[in-house]
Amino acid sequence: MSILFAASEIYPYAKSGGLADVAQALPESLREQGETVYSLMPLYNQVDRKKYNIEFSGLSFDYWLAGVRHQFDIFHKADSLDELFIYNPILCDRLGLYDDEFGDFGDNALRFGLFSYAILEVMIRKKLDVKTIHINDWQTSLVALLAKTRYNLPQKVVLTIHNLAYQGIFSKKVMDILELDWDTCFKFSGIEYFDNVNFLKAGINYSDAITTVSKTYAQEIQTPAFGNSLDETLRINSFKLQGIVNGISTEVFNPQKDEFIEKKFSLKTYKNKQKNKEILLKELALEGNEKPLFIFIGRFTSQKGVDLLIDSMDLFKDYEANFVILGSGEEFYNKIFTEITNKYKNIHIKIGYDEAFSRKLYASADFLLMPSVFEPCGLNQMISMQYGVLPIVAKTGGLKDTVVDFTDIEDLKSLKLGVGITLGELNLFWFNHAIAKALSLYGNRPKFIEISKHNMSVDNSWNNSAQEYINLYK
Ligand code: ADP
Repeated sequence: MSILFAASEIYPYAKSGGLADVAQALPESLREQGETVYSLMPLYNQVDRKKYNIEFSGLSFDYWLAGVRHQFDIFHKADSLDELFIYNPILCDRLGLYDDEFGDFGDNALRFGLFSYAILEVMIRKKLDVKTIHINDWQTSLVALLAKTRYNLPQKVVLTIHNLAYQGIFSKKVMDILELDWDTCFKFSGIEYFDNVNFLKAGINYSDAITTVSKTYAQEIQTPAFGNSLDETLRINSFKLQGIVNGISTEVFNPQKDEFIEKKFSLKTYKNKQKNKEILLKELALEGNEKPLFIFIGRFTSQKGVDLLIDSMDLFKDYEANFVILGSGEEFYNKIFTEITNKYKNIHIKIGYDEAFSRKLYASADFLLMPSVFEPCGLNQMISMQYGVLPIVAKTGGLKDTVVDFTDIEDLKSLKLGVGITLGELNLFWFNHAIAKALSLYGNRPKFIEISKHNMSVDNSWNNSAQEYINLYK
């Protein structure tokens, strides 16, 4: 069976969040299980063509939309020809993927509309023998609409919603710019959304199957509280919606091989984890190798519980513990974190996106803070567990499905899920209550180490979920 997998970001070529990790790891796992997967992403300026051996594939074509000629050049990886890249200047010649310091790019509808057309054109022009097209989030959602209306293709289209909060909502003028048919598409059961267009809504309505990235989130998004105004559309389409939990690449996130960490470690060489911590603390001028280390890694946006984190700083400073925060995001939060960067002796804040530093943190930390307001799946908690970290999580979405509170465990040995601390409620009291619980657990070294080692041996790989996708693709 062959699958066309399209995403707006794929690790390691371009990454702004979890989508890139999934778009790398799921195709990798499907290929390992014997499936043919063509992956497709934009060849943004920032993709390092030389480093990744990306070359012109020999296919170039023009596509006319509303009287405008758009040119596409198709590239592939020299050593992996089914990894394809689409170059078009409007789509790719940017300093960011979707936005820059001034905000979202004003022509994202055109950019990802062009990308969606190009995905189908590449499949057709390259005569790829594809059974199922797997699209991801709003950036590739128009593929479903185009495949079912303009192109009338026989392929099954599967849409994965990685985060319902981002929908691609634009003015209805986009209908003409992208030559979308008003009569068949601009309706409640199509792309129309409060007299605008909503790309994700089109994806939901026109695809044959929809997945989202955890079982709990699949339920949550059908409710007004988590539905981001698409809960009704999702309830109508619930017959084709299911939750399939994400995995992580155990090749990329592997403390035995991680190129970014100083002391590689495994269950057998567990003591090296402490050495990583000592190296890191020294580097950051934090004191107390024997104290627990708490980390936060993520986008600075309200979804990730950043408000709670900021409100907690004045309490964190008095704990016998160190805290390292790595992230960047909304200007409002970047500014607050910048202002307090050097305020506390036991809190180190780094603003920016830094893959290498994130791995050092996972390798050194004892606890990961993840007080998300909502979390479709969340990868950080799974990644951290690979490195023996105990996640402290809100009981929402994928966090609820992947982490059990250590006080709720009956038999650790037979437990297939990871272990950490779950927040009773999402507020300052429960968050700090969880940290107090963490401090007391850390004081019981044998128990802490037993749980940390358990987390390292939990299977968070893609193996099971990839099989679920294979069943769905048929
Ligand atoms: P998101 O909602 O951002 O997609 P996920 O938990 O699904 O959240 O995935 C986040 C991914 O991005 C993880 O691989 C995490 O380590 C990484 N990440 C997030 N912020 C940063 C950062 N500032 N620097 C390095 N890696 C980061």
